[in-house]
Amino acid sequence: MCFGTSSGRLSQLAHYGPIGAIILIIWITISGYHCLIQWYPPDIKDPLSIINFLIYWIWPVIIFYNYFRAIFVGPGFVPKGWKPANPEDEKYLQYCDVCDGFKAPRAHHCKKCGKCVMKLDHHCPWINTCTGHFNHANFCWFLFYAILGCIHALIMLCPCIYRALFVQYYVYARVKDVPLIYFTFTGLISCILSIGLALGVIIAVGFLLIVQLRSIMKNQTGVESWILRKAKDRNHRRAVEFIYPYDLGFKENLRQVFNWRETFNVIGNGLIWPVRDGTDEYALTREQLEQKSEKRQRTMRYEVVQPYKGAFITLRYGLRTCICIPCTDEFRIPIEKGDYVLVTRWERYWLYGERVIAGQLDKNNQEMKTRRRGHRRPRGWFPRCCVYEAFRIEDLWSGKLDQNSDIVRAQFDNIGPEGFDDNKNADEEEKEQTDDTPPTTPKKLRKRKVRQES
Ligand SMILES: [Zn+2]
Ligand SMILES: [Zn+2]
Repeated sequence: MCFGTSSGRLSQLAHYGPIGAIILIIWITISGYHCLIQWYPPDIKDPLSIINFLIYWIWPVIIFYNYFRAIFVGPGFVPKGWKPANPEDEKYLQYCDVCDGFKAPRAHHCKKCGKCVMKLDHHCPWINTCTGHFNHANFCWFLFYAILGCIHALIMLCPCIYRALFVQYYVYARVKDVPLIYFTFTGLISCILSIGLALGVIIAVGFLLIVQLRSIMKNQTGVESWILRKAKDRNHRRAVEFIYPYDLGFKENLRQVFNWRETFNVIGNGLIWPVRDGTDEYALTREQLEQKSEKRQRTMRYEVVQPYKGAFITLRYGLRTCICIPCTDEFRIPIEKGDYVLVTRWERYWLYGERVIAGQLDKNNQEMKTRRRGHRRPRGWFPRCCVYEAFRIEDLWSGKLDQNSDIVRAQFDNIGPEGFDDNKNADEEEKEQTDDTPPTTPKKLRKRKVRQES
């Protein structure tokens, strides 16, 4: 296993996620144990009670083993400044400005970890790191054993509490075969709370485990299914349908992660991946680059007319803005009057974009290109009413608004979307533009206009 790229730091535990998870596991275990020793204590004459007792204590050991491995082994991070062995392949990969290196196939940058993560699935607050290539199996085992542990604890807790609540019945009825169970008030409350917590864990973790197993069986992380969905939407524009390169069949996909035939360690170094016939190792990264290029073509630059401090409650921008927030955990960015924002996503009352601070606007394009690598502008959501909109972009897409109308032309002439933060140059963007995408950039509009005139 490649520990050189792991995240393992003790300080990762100093976060509400791991602290909460550890307290939760200990709480349910101790409450269940409190019930176990009253209701079904280990008795040398009863082998089953001994087995029950031992199994009960095996759960927290396996749970913590997998939990701490998921944290300390980590998902595996792409080494800083990484580049493919063959320099020719660099053109198929994205460049990460923050890590100052190429993103290996299947790697994505996690803002919370601040690094490019190998086969990033998602950032999990409970382990305070990402779930990725090296810790995916341990993460799934942790979820699986947490469910089993909670079921066992529930089997101890429920009958025990039932008997404790009706202890008087057992005393008066003189039932002799059943141990009498007494609780202090705090003990009772703690155990009832544990039942709720254990049930919550079984439902929530069970759901997460199903999602994880489905993603492993398809060999498709959360991010990759999103890319694949967009790739399928683009299929009608190409001669050959896009084939997802990492799907090796459900059994082999499972083996790639759990590797039961050999060492139970994940297969591969997280940088080079086996692919199915008819594809190559850069099939998905090429598709990603094309999708990004399309995204750039949709970028629009808006002028900020009203400041926003990044607050969570946004009543001052209207009730609808306050209620209809984007369903995501992405950041919100503060913006100041006079700034520009390069917008790539549009919600009814919110926009997502990259903030260009007022002073940076005077720089010409050449200067912008030189500062592209190693520096990143803040990106995030902000209320739509904070920017000047000459027209609503949705009207342009739906055809309600003519793209050659004065209002659209005036907007593009005044505020073009140049300088979107990435590492591709404008010539490449021009080459990759396809004619069936809506022309939203001024260059494209002008090109279309010239073609119509000729
Ligand atoms: Zn990165
Ligand atoms: Zn992360």
